[in-house]
Amino acid sequence: MRHRTSDLDRVVVVGGGRAAVAAVEELERLGFTGAVTVLAGESRPPYHRPACSKGLLTGQRPADVQLSTSSSARWLTGRVAAELDAKRQIVYAQTGEMYVYDALVVATGARPVIPDGWPVGEPGLHSLHSIDDALSLAADLRKAQRVAVVGAGLTGCEAAYVVRSLARECIMIDSNPQVMTRAVGSVTGGLIADTMRHEGVRMRLGRRVKNLSRCRRGWRLDLDDGSHVDADVVIATLGERPDTDWFTARHADTSDGLLCDESLRVQGVDQVVAAGAVARWPNAWYGDKPGRVDQWIAAMELGQAAARTLLSGSRAAPAVGVLPRYWSDLFGLRIQVCGRIDQTEEVAVTELRPGRRDIARGGVLAAHRRGGVTSGVVAVNAPRQFTTLARAMREAGPARPLVSLPAVIPNQRRLSLVG
Ligand SMILES: Cc1cc2nc3c(=O)[nH]c(=O)nc-3n(C[C@H](O)[C@H](O)[C@H](O)COP(=O)(O)OP(=O)(O)OC[C@H]3O[C@@H](n4cnc5c(N)ncnc54)[C@H](O)[C@@H]3O)c2cc1C
Repeated sequence: MRHRTSDLDRVVVVGGGRAAVAAVEELERLGFTGAVTVLAGESRPPYHRPACSKGLLTGQRPADVQLSTSSSARWLTGRVAAELDAKRQIVYAQTGEMYVYDALVVATGARPVIPDGWPVGEPGLHSLHSIDDALSLAADLRKAQRVAVVGAGLTGCEAAYVVRSLARECIMIDSNPQVMTRAVGSVTGGLIADTMRHEGVRMRLGRRVKNLSRCRRGWRLDLDDGSHVDADVVIATLGERPDTDWFTARHADTSDGLLCDESLRVQGVDQVVAAGAVARWPNAWYGDKPGRVDQWIAAMELGQAAARTLLSGSRAAPAVGVLPRYWSDLFGLRIQVCGRIDQTEEVAVTELRPGRRDIARGGVLAAHRRGGVTSGVVAVNAPRQFTTLARAMREAGPARPLVSLPAVIPNQRRLSLVG
């Protein structure tokens, strides 16, 4: 089937990350022959963003993490969309150029949260989102002795892992009492924090940074308990916020990304779909209120789905369901997550090798349940069991009970039950 209709000749994609690449590829795969123009804010071609907190910090070259892009689309790097005229269907770039569209794909992702007054970019003070951030941090880490990581989410823990593997001192600060709370939940997060402590990461958990100031040898962080931390290098990994400042359509809801319907059409604006970390939509996998999924595989799946919706024109398009999933390797732990683990009522945590001092390293499986249904699974050093559970979850489909843990681990020992 070839897609070129008089009402859909010019597609503009704003973004240039995973979701944008996937949308463009899907348009091409479905035979769309109109003009596709991508306004990509960064000056580099698209790349594998997760590498920014992993290999790029330890010598991997930018060329190794580049994504291949469609040859038929017009990729304009360094073009930041600054304004939208939703009525006349025009995107204005910061450069002053204007791009008229018949359909618009918004894939602007999210950008790092930086506390007010933190002069990120000054020597020794870093955020971690792009290749340029990673290269600049890698250069500073070579000279550093003491590194403070502020924010103990997935990215912060990955950065701490790199810091320790370079044999630098590492201190981690977070207002939560555990690490990776949002990513793996507090019980598993506590076990991962224990492993990190064994590996020499000093933890200042449950503490907030009240003030950051320059000192003779780097930076001083004043904490809310009156103590302070000195560091040559500070890495701010405090989460990300969707990038919608430029999306100036009056009737759109931009309170947390772009509010979309179940097929990723942006609500309140004609001819616009959203994909990736910026899209907030009622995920058909869960069938509840709209939310965002800021993960790599989801960005790809959402990009593809948004392209399909766009080509369906005014016809009804299928509801989009995405099962969140990702993994990370740090401190000898293979962490794998499938499904949603927030908003759960109960967490059943199972130790694979009871009696080990380092529980996480011995293997742990956590089933997160809500209303009697397993909505997410976290595995640490339990790849075989994870594969079985994740497959069962996919096969069971949305909002169905999952196979019980005893079927997966016959000799399980339940560690804790959090209600
Ligand atoms: C350091 C780091 C490590 C990560 N590790 C993992 C991981 O291990 N596993 C995992 O699942 N996820 C990981 N993620 C999250 C994952 O990378 C994101 O979910 C994914 O990149 C989202 O893709 P996206 O295309 O929606 O947005 P992005 O990748 O953020 O791309 C959006 C692009 O749009 C551009 N843009 C923004 N505004 C404009 C504008 N106005 N005009 C033009 N262009 C604009 C941005 O510059 C950016 O290039 C990580 C993220 C970071 C930052």
